[in-house]
Amino acid sequence: MEFVSTRGLSEPVGFFDAFANGLAPDGGLYVPKHLPLLPSDLLVDEALPYPALAWDFLSLFDSDHDSDHLIDLIDRSYGDFSEEMSAPLQQVSDNTFILELFHGPTLAFKDFGLQLMGNLFEEQIERTGETINVLGATSGDTGAAAIAGLAGKKGVNVFILYPKGRISDLQERQMTCTGESNIFPIPVEGTFDDCQAIVKELLGDPDLKNKLRLSAVNSINIVRILAQSIYYVHAYMQLPQENRDDVRFVVPTGNFGNVFSGWMVHQMGLPVDDFVVATNKNDILYRLFETGTYSSGSVDPSSAPSMDIQVASNFERFLYYHNEKNADKTLSQMADFAANGSINVPEFNSSNLSATRCDDDEILENIRKVKEEFNYVVDPHTACGFQDLDLASTHVVLATAHPAKFPDVIEKAIGERPTEDSLEALKKKKQVSFPVENSAEAVQKFLEDNAL
Ligand SMILES: *Cc1c(COP(=O)(O)O)cnc(C)c1O
Repeated sequence: MEFVSTRGLSEPVGFFDAFANGLAPDGGLYVPKHLPLLPSDLLVDEALPYPALAWDFLSLFDSDHDSDHLIDLIDRSYGDFSEEMSAPLQQVSDNTFILELFHGPTLAFKDFGLQLMGNLFEEQIERTGETINVLGATSGDTGAAAIAGLAGKKGVNVFILYPKGRISDLQERQMTCTGESNIFPIPVEGTFDDCQAIVKELLGDPDLKNKLRLSAVNSINIVRILAQSIYYVHAYMQLPQENRDDVRFVVPTGNFGNVFSGWMVHQMGLPVDDFVVATNKNDILYRLFETGTYSSGSVDPSSAPSMDIQVASNFERFLYYHNEKNADKTLSQMADFAANGSINVPEFNSSNLSATRCDDDEILENIRKVKEEFNYVVDPHTACGFQDLDLASTHVVLATAHPAKFPDVIEKAIGERPTEDSLEALKKKKQVSFPVENSAEAVQKFLEDNAL
C-alpha cells in the first residue's frame, strides 16, 4: 500500500517511510492511497485473538514487512498488555458497553500506537545504522506512552516537553521515573500549546532536523492511526449478536486521532452506524458541528488534560475525505486556516459523526452518574463520553485511560481514590526531569547538548 499526503504535493511513500517521515514533506498528513475493504473473513462470528486480528488488519497496509516479521513486530508491541485480550469490552447495561483501552504499560489508549512505533523506531535504527533523537510535546498521555515505547532502547534518546503543573502527578511520574538514561522529560512553564509550538518550530527547521536526526512522536503519525483502528474491529466482534445493529461508538476526543481511526475502519466496511466526538470544554470540534466553522480557540486547562487542545491536528485527514480526496482543496483550506485561524466547512453533519461537549462540572457529574447507574468508575476523559447519551441503541464508549491515573478528580466526584499496582510502584521511585525555559532557543540548546 502506498500513502499519499492530504496536501498532494509530496511523493507517495510505502508504510515504513510514512512512519519514518511522520509529517509529509509538504506539511500534510499521510493517508492510505485507497481504503481497502475489510476482508469478510475478519468479521466472522467470534472475535479473533488480538494479535491475529492486528496481523490481518496491518497486512492490508504494510507491504514492507514479510509475514513473519510483521507477526514478530505485533507480538513485541502487544505482548506486555496485561489482559489476555488487550481491549476487553465490558457490558454495563442492555445496550451500553465500555471498551477498556487502558491495559497497556501506561494505562491509556495511546500505548496501542506508541508500542508499535517504538519497535519501528528500533527497526529504523537498525536499517539506517544512524541514531535518532525523538522530540515530542505532550498533554500527558502521549509522552508517557512514547517513553514507555522507547525507554532503554539502543540508539535513541527521547525528549518530551510537557506543561509543568498541568498534567497529573502520576502522568508525570510515568515519564520521570523510568530510571533510563535515554529519557529526557522536560517540564516547561506554559501550556501544552506552548510546548507543541516549540516542537513544531524545531522540527520545522530542516538543518536542525538533519543535524540532530530528529523524529516526531505526535498523534499525526499514520502508524498510530492504523494501530488504533484494530480495536474498533475487535470491539465490534466482542458485541453479542443482538447488539450488532445500529452501533454507535462514543470517543473522548482531543486531536481527532482516535475517532478518525474508527471512522476510517467504518469506511472500510465495519458495519456500525456512527461516531460521537466527545469533547471537553476545549471544544473546537463541538463548535464545528454546531456552527460549520472550524476555528481555533485558546486552551483552558480542564480535568481531562489529554483532551486540552487548541486545534485538532488529525482533523486534516477527515477534511481530506470530506473533500472527496481533493488534495488541492485541502491544501488551500489548511493555508486559509493557518492564515486566519478559522475556516468554514459546509455540510459538515453528513458524515456519520456528531459531537458533544462536557465542562469540568459535567465531568464530575458523569463520573458520579456512571458509578451510580452502572457501578463502574470512569476516568475524567472517558466521563466526557457519557455526556448526553441517548441509550436507544447500542453504545460503545471508549475508555481511554485508567481512572487510577486521575485519583484527585475521581475522589472529588465519588469520594474514593482508585489505585493500580504499577502506579503505586511509581510513587516509590526517584523522579528525574530536565526543566528548560519556555523558548525554542533554550530547548534547541538543550537538545544540542544532550542529543545522541
Ligand atoms: C490522547 C487522549 C485522548 C484524545 O485522543 P485523540 O486521539 O487526541 O482525540 C482522550 N483521552 C485520553 C486519556 C488521552 O490520552
